[in-house]
Amino acid sequence: MCDACGGIADVSDGAAGRWPARRGLSRRTLLAGTALGAGLGLFGLGLPRARAATLKNGAWCNPALGYFPDGGHFGAPRGGGSHAGQDITNSTGTAVYAAAAGTVIRREWGGGLPARTGYGIVLSHGNGRYTYYGHLSAYRVSLNQRVSAGQRIGDMGATGNVTGPHLHFETHSGGLGAVVNPVTFMAARGVDLGGGWPTLDPDARGARVTAIQYLLNQRGHGLQVDGWLGPASTDAVKRFQRLNGLVADGQAGPLTWPKLVYSLRQGANGQHVRGLQTVLNKRGAGLVVDGDFGSVTTGAVRTFQSVNRLTVDGVAGAITWRALVG
Ligand SMILES: [Zn+2]
Repeated sequence: MCDACGGIADVSDGAAGRWPARRGLSRRTLLAGTALGAGLGLFGLGLPRARAATLKNGAWCNPALGYFPDGGHFGAPRGGGSHAGQDITNSTGTAVYAAAAGTVIRREWGGGLPARTGYGIVLSHGNGRYTYYGHLSAYRVSLNQRVSAGQRIGDMGATGNVTGPHLHFETHSGGLGAVVNPVTFMAARGVDLGGGWPTLDPDARGARVTAIQYLLNQRGHGLQVDGWLGPASTDAVKRFQRLNGLVADGQAGPLTWPKLVYSLRQGANGQHVRGLQTVLNKRGAGLVVDGDFGSVTTGAVRTFQSVNRLTVDGVAGAITWRALVG
């Protein structure tokens, strides 16, 4: 749980030697009063459902794996104020990823935002949308750096006023400071902040679509691997769904993904391995996408599992896939 947030003022430096000494700010103010209104406004603009659905376009992904601690939800009372983000708890050093492509506009204590504490990063995603990552133990990007969705930007930590290590994650829509509920903001974009499978609508693009195309080609579909869930790929998804007794809507969601992925280990070779290598690269693995699950790919799987606190066995099973594509 986090302070901006409330709780015990623990300003012990979790990454001695890596950070300049700095005491925590303790001012607690109302953070989300106007933001709650902005959050409701997101769905109050009269946008038709079809428009909202296109937000599941592959641009957004999960920033960190962990669990939601009690009282760590958006809007939870915090000393007369309101919790501005969603807390995601895991251990110090757990990887923190950019939730979407953007630019690092703040890399400082509390992200330069009022009442936040701990080392933080603010990413700008354009169109008045921002994400904030608080209580970090390490930065892995520099100020003004351009980042891609899924790129590791920092490490989870316990800097600032916290009761333990976690990521304090905020989503702003309509300008910096206009916080909205991260769980619903991300869900609207096909991301389960709780760590579930993502949802990609027809017309989505990106590495996960590339992976879907490879996974379908492993089953003989012969799709052009272009990272676009266009008409041909959407039809292939629908055929796959029909064969598996699913609703054939062409949407790659929580029911489709588990049937689509393969459990892969060293020695495997094929299009499905290319899919795995593609999503590992989205998370920074830097592999050659050659379809050969050799020792280098095994090492990349083990590294990914380790920094996400999964069982480190080098085998890409359903849980590892879910974390990779989430
Ligand atoms: Zn928090």
